[in-house]
Amino acid sequence: MISVEEARKRILDSISPLGLEKVNILDALGRVVGEDIHAGRDIPPKDNSAMDGYALRAEDTRGTAAERPVRIEVVEDIPAGTVPRKRIGPRQAARIMTGAPIPEGADAVVRMEDTRKEETIVAVFVEAKKGQDIRRAGEDVQQGEKVISRGDIIRPAEVGMLASLGRSFILVYQRPLVAVVATGDELVDIDETPSPWKIISSNSYSLAALVLECGAIPLQIGIARDRREDLVAKFQDAMRADLIVSSGGVSVGDYDLVKEIMKEVGNRMQFWQIAMRPGRPLAFGALGDVPVVGLPGNPVSSMVSFEQFIRPAILKMMGHKNLFRRTVLARIVEGIKKKKGVRHFIRARIRWDGESYTVVTTGDQGSGILKSMVRANGLIILPEGATTVGAGEKVMVQLLDNSLEWTPEPGY
Ligand code: AMP
Ligand code: MG
Repeated sequence: MISVEEARKRILDSISPLGLEKVNILDALGRVVGEDIHAGRDIPPKDNSAMDGYALRAEDTRGTAAERPVRIEVVEDIPAGTVPRKRIGPRQAARIMTGAPIPEGADAVVRMEDTRKEETIVAVFVEAKKGQDIRRAGEDVQQGEKVISRGDIIRPAEVGMLASLGRSFILVYQRPLVAVVATGDELVDIDETPSPWKIISSNSYSLAALVLECGAIPLQIGIARDRREDLVAKFQDAMRADLIVSSGGVSVGDYDLVKEIMKEVGNRMQFWQIAMRPGRPLAFGALGDVPVVGLPGNPVSSMVSFEQFIRPAILKMMGHKNLFRRTVLARIVEGIKKKKGVRHFIRARIRWDGESYTVVTTGDQGSGILKSMVRANGLIILPEGATTVGAGEKVMVQLLDNSLEWTPEPGY
């Protein structure tokens, strides 16, 4: 038996990030950046007005007050996007809109609300300070500054930054193509009519969904029958992918054919017993130079093992630095008994009450009980050494999704 960490380390050590590709900035959302981005220009490019108002010389407003405002000549109108043509001299102003460039000679903007227009004159009611309501060229970003680094994840803010720098394309890590192969004579595909002794290959879909959720591209290979030619054909077909994930046929008691074929068409195939529950058996090796992970067939085992071993591998291929799901400490509602020597991953529902996390298991933990996975938003991780956990104790919970963020509207 090997530990979860040991298995994960061996898998991750043999995985490298894929190459880079150039994509449109909107398509880059969620992707990992493959280049350092330096600003090609100042943002904003020129000093401009932060307000609708009047651009003038601050010193001309000295001593002004609401009862006896200074009166200043308006020499120009500068809507946003236009270029000022006049220089502002003493006791002169330009009417200016937010975002419009500050005319030469002016060193402050007075807000519209603090003025009154009188034909070609403006009455200014408040003193202006030098620099007031002017957004300086380069105050957001200076030309040459590094704004995004290799390894960063593109979020909407990064998309906006790239757009404001005039960059419509960016280099990001490629998304791996992940082949999903189900094995088993008991399986039929989703739209076949199952005879009573057949089951629908739900793994083909849950695993493909997990691949999609990672941001990778699933390649559905379908079901390989427990027959030599079919297994060989399906595995060879899967070698088009960057990573192969199979389900079924790797447990100890299993009909040996899947393992035998994996050994035959694969390289360095290893068949592990991992000190975990569910998900004890796992196969790992390569077909050609494509890494292959053979998951156990039970629907929950395959999902839990995917979470622990394949998701981090896919994220590594996509250039991510943080490969693991967030784990938090939560108070468990009920007591649990477990088997000593193995790590348990227990389907559970975790909730944040505003101050701390509470977690409750979602029912039958059999490795074929998908319903308790459907109800779960996390996995309680109980360490190998433990045999019991008491009600009210703190346990580690691995979050499986972002359902904790779907809170009701905050009542500030
Ligand atoms: P195995 O690991 O091949 O011994 O499979 C264990 C159990 O998992 C089988 O008895 C099936 O009921 C179930 N199983 C295997 N493959 C699938 C699949 N693709 N979809 C759903 N259940 C599966
Ligand atoms: Mg099987």
